[in-house]
Amino acid sequence: MTSLPKHCAPSRGRRLAESWLRSIPGIREREPLARHSWYGIGGTAEFFLELESDVPLARILPRLVAEATPVFPLGLGTNTLFRGPVLPGLTIRLATETIQIDGQTVAVSAGFPMPRLAAETAKAGRAGLEFGAGVPGTVGGSVFGNAGAFGTEIKDRLISADAIDPAGSVHSLTAADCQFAYRDSAFKSGPARGFIITRATFSVQPADPSAIRERIKQVQRHRRDTQPIDKRSLGSTFKNPPGDSAGRLIEAAGLKGRRIGGAQVSPKHANFIVNMGGATADDVLALVAEMRDAVRQRFGIELEPEIRIVGAA
Ligand SMILES: Cc1cc2nc3c(=O)[nH]c(=O)nc-3n(C[C@H](O)[C@H](O)[C@H](O)COP(=O)(O)OP(=O)(O)OC[C@H]3O[C@@H](n4cnc5c(N)ncnc54)[C@H](O)[C@@H]3O)c2cc1C
Repeated sequence: MTSLPKHCAPSRGRRLAESWLRSIPGIREREPLARHSWYGIGGTAEFFLELESDVPLARILPRLVAEATPVFPLGLGTNTLFRGPVLPGLTIRLATETIQIDGQTVAVSAGFPMPRLAAETAKAGRAGLEFGAGVPGTVGGSVFGNAGAFGTEIKDRLISADAIDPAGSVHSLTAADCQFAYRDSAFKSGPARGFIITRATFSVQPADPSAIRERIKQVQRHRRDTQPIDKRSLGSTFKNPPGDSAGRLIEAAGLKGRRIGGAQVSPKHANFIVNMGGATADDVLALVAEMRDAVRQRFGIELEPEIRIVGAA
């Protein structure tokens, strides 16, 4: 075997970190990320761990910090574009799926899918979370980004969120602590950045299950009619600028249907970029840049991405 030149060889600290990571039960190396993003796009995760319980996090996170190993918490990848050949460090996919409905509160684990949360609470005759039927990601990803649909956002329903900080300490944050704003939170851009959300508690009201199910059907019908849900996408590419709609601006700038490689501005909804097959992160990012440029030049408005772009260029 040829040895690496000295300046390329991993340091002793790095080798120790890698051998510790390899000792974690269930750890995977070079996991293809395309299968963990709704886009079906991605290189590989250097290390990847799927957890059905959040208990190991308090032990794993401080060690990752001590070893200067980056960590990326992942839900269902419905808002995440992976770019670059390798995502360094440890990607942790939270697949925790527990739910407790008690009176007017619902406590649910971060890995629970939002559409299932809507369905389970409807079945139990609790109203308020029907909007979850329109958000295909997890509770954790949705708290992180204050997801919303059809006039309701996470912030309207959340009582508290439990999270673990990088030192392994557990916190219970009130809705005020979460500092929710339009598609934003303390986890995304505030003091809780780097925390991993493990659980959320929502308020709900008793109601007739068939009436709640009817509202869920309305949400699903509206999505089918207005969004390209038969294609791979990450939902809305950009946030809506104040008082306007990103989709309207992109359409008015003439980009509906514009295609670069395998990525296309959806002919059904101009704020969605869909993967027509074989799209790369570069195809998507080239379209993102073109959409921003066109809207800036035509309307003087700077569109802000809603999708998360993760990994090195
Ligand atoms: C067809 C389609 C329609 C959509 N419609 C909507 C919509 O109507 N409204 C809307 O708001 N969104 C919508 N989205 C976007 C997406 O579903 C939401 O943003 C969702 O909340 C993301 O959840 P996720 O689990 O997939 O997050 P991921 O994509 O896995 O992660 C998103 C971000 O959250 C972070 N994160 C995930 N889990 C945790 C955790 N436990 N702790 C800390 N950070 C975490 C990740 O690190 C990442 O930065 C849509 C997407 C698609 C594909």
